[in-house]
Amino acid sequence: MAEKNPTICIIDDNPVDREVFRRYLLQDTRYHYQFYEEETGEEGIALCRRVQPDCILLDYTLPDINGLEFLAGLVDSSGSIPFAVIMLAGMGDESIALQAMKSGAQDYLVKNEMTPGNLFRAIHNAIERSTMRRTLEKHQQDLEQKNQEIQAFAYALAHDLRAPLRAITGFSQIVAQDYKDALDADGRHYVDNIVDACTQMDRLIDDLLSYTRIEHRAIHYKPVALGYLVQQIIENMAERINQAQALITVAEDLPMVYGDTTLINQIFVNLIDNALVYRKPDDQTRLSLSWYQDGDFAVVRLADNGIGIAPKHYERIFNLFQRLHGDELYPGTGIGLAIVKKATDLLGGHVWVESTPGEGSTFFVKLPMNIS
Ligand code: ADP
Repeated sequence: MAEKNPTICIIDDNPVDREVFRRYLLQDTRYHYQFYEEETGEEGIALCRRVQPDCILLDYTLPDINGLEFLAGLVDSSGSIPFAVIMLAGMGDESIALQAMKSGAQDYLVKNEMTPGNLFRAIHNAIERSTMRRTLEKHQQDLEQKNQEIQAFAYALAHDLRAPLRAITGFSQIVAQDYKDALDADGRHYVDNIVDACTQMDRLIDDLLSYTRIEHRAIHYKPVALGYLVQQIIENMAERINQAQALITVAEDLPMVYGDTTLINQIFVNLIDNALVYRKPDDQTRLSLSWYQDGDFAVVRLADNGIGIAPKHYERIFNLFQRLHGDELYPGTGIGLAIVKKATDLLGGHVWVESTPGEGSTFFVKLPMNIS
């Protein structure tokens, strides 16, 4: 679009200046421009929103607001200005113009020094940039859509694999139990292998469904009492905790955070579960939960005394299917931390790990606090 008829919004209350800009731009042999004009800032902002121009020529001094306020009025929900703005400053206003560039204008021109040549250059640059930005946005949108399609596909696949897998698991368990006398040692061994593989696949499908479901369900933000939620999780996991003979200590003053109960629950279930799995066989498993405040965020620390993680793996363990150990040593699917990461991202938070291999790991979960 921009290659043919770029749209220019001229926001200037001086009709003579507007006429000059138009005349200059009509001499440009590269583009045939479409012009839109407004005299005041408020109307100018509305015009730009409506027209979505390739470039805005903006006089700094408008009757109602100044150029900086105009720029602030263009800021979109992502916090940036989705237009290429060339600020037009008077002689001696260069410091203001520089400030405007810091606030998101792309270029500035001193009105009295303007020539067709430097106006063309500034506008060509602006158009190239805005064309590039739009292409990038389009790619980004396509990518997001593809991502959503893949997630939907994974969800449907995992969902539909469940029923046949149940049948295989059920029947192989029956063979393993009720027909064991009819089988020789090899036969029993093979059937046991089938049952084990089914259990592993069932876990994989469950985890994959949890992961993809995060994307599918609506998020309900509300104040969540972390102390209560963690206590519930520990009660529900009591059997596993007892089996591991683990000692879990929880700070009494865990804060109220602001988020979605289901997502926060998934975060802590997965992290506590991992602390029970990746333990050192000969030491008593210890896990402590504490927290500190960082601005408007609460950072919860989960410190275990398990096998630890080498620094080079700090990032990659949060990716889907990334495991540092074979299934024989530590069973797992490589999905838990990907769930934790996706959930914290969705809640506007962050998760990271620090660890000393052989001594233990501390996972940090940063979540928005409920500040009333
Ligand atoms: P899974 O536990 O199913 O393998 P996760 O995504 O939860 O998948 O974890 C990814 C990998 O990160 C694990 O395979 C393990 O190697 C490592 N890991 C996770 N939590 C811990 C922990 N508390 N201590 C040591 N290693 C851990």
